[in-house]
Amino acid sequence: MSVLLRPQTANAPAKVKDTGLINLVKDGDAAYNAKSGELLLLPGGVLEHTRIKERLAARLFNDANLQRVDCGGDDAVFSLAERYVREWGDSALSYLDDRGREFRVLGWSKDTALAEVKTSEIMGAISHELKQISDRAEFSFIEEALPGGRSFSLLSPCESGSIGARPGFICKSCGRAALSDSPFEFRSEQPAKDEDMENLQEIQTPGANTIAELCSQLGIDIRRTIKAMLYVASDEEKATGLRPIASFIRGDYNISLNKLSDWLRKNHRLSRLRSAEKQELHDLFGEVAGYCGPVGLPENVVVVCDNSVRDAKNAVVGANHTGYHCTGCCYGRDFTSDITDIAQISQGSPCACGGSFEQTALREAGVIQFGLDLYADANLEHKNKTLQSDKKLSYRDRDGFHEYPAVWGGFISTEKILLEIGRLR
Ligand SMILES: [Zn+2]
Repeated sequence: MSVLLRPQTANAPAKVKDTGLINLVKDGDAAYNAKSGELLLLPGGVLEHTRIKERLAARLFNDANLQRVDCGGDDAVFSLAERYVREWGDSALSYLDDRGREFRVLGWSKDTALAEVKTSEIMGAISHELKQISDRAEFSFIEEALPGGRSFSLLSPCESGSIGARPGFICKSCGRAALSDSPFEFRSEQPAKDEDMENLQEIQTPGANTIAELCSQLGIDIRRTIKAMLYVASDEEKATGLRPIASFIRGDYNISLNKLSDWLRKNHRLSRLRSAEKQELHDLFGEVAGYCGPVGLPENVVVVCDNSVRDAKNAVVGANHTGYHCTGCCYGRDFTSDITDIAQISQGSPCACGGSFEQTALREAGVIQFGLDLYADANLEHKNKTLQSDKKLSYRDRDGFHEYPAVWGGFISTEKILLEIGRLR
């Protein structure tokens, strides 16, 4: 008679912090190769992993019309779509490619709006099925800035050092998870809220070319300062070379390059955002390094302010020449500009519920993206990890030319879902 190999043990694998992994090993469903970091599935683990895969695949077929295939590569999936799209339409445009411990999600839509609808169907189906698999699992899709597109990561809180863990944040009050480039609603109060408006006044601040030095010279709260970050970006359409970008944010916050890149792409068709070098600062902005402020910048500079600047009153800003700042600066009276969310979430950032974000580890079990304008961007290589395919699907028939240029896709790691379910045993 056959007996399933299920070598239960009381001993956790050495130096492993991942509770999911520890539970799987203790229950005899997996072994761990510490040298390679590989999770070796034993028969019980294979059964559980297969069950998760089958349930997700069935849900994604039923709710989002994703066709399960086994092609092994994006080019092969594309050629399937190309071969069958004329006769099968949408059923030949949406795929779930089995890649062993993960599913590759890949498909094409007529435009970005339809790609958005499709990806929300997919995320809805995954969330729904994961709740069915374990109602204690805390997975959620969290948005993160993706220049030119939108990106959603499937995350759950975990121990730091867990497989697939990445640094993130969680609000202890409402349980909302976030990544440093996630959208967020700025709610913090300005310190000068109840004061009368002062006059804009230039003062000498020798050597105060950092926010810390400025605060210590003037003895002021950092929230009374507005910090400038200067960049350059390329104009894709005119190819006229570099455009200077000045972004402003309250002194205690930092700029998210991915949010800023996304805003510049969508509003100015600018890409390849990077910090301005010393010579570029001089040529494009003038002698402003360390003393740049939002009042009186050259006309050609693209100016954008973070939400944290909207209510700025009696703030200290750079005076746009070396060694000087201005006090009493008020948004609306002394300057205005485009305002958007370009801040990074960090320890203590306010959550929309009134609580605040604290650092935590989040296990990333998948990512779904769409809407990339797939023009080259050197800064995007690390970010644009799931949508390498820029192939536009098209065909011609008696009714004319049909095009599906909006690529969407991502990955769902069933291994990491197995670990997360294992964590809850
Ligand atoms: Zn909250």
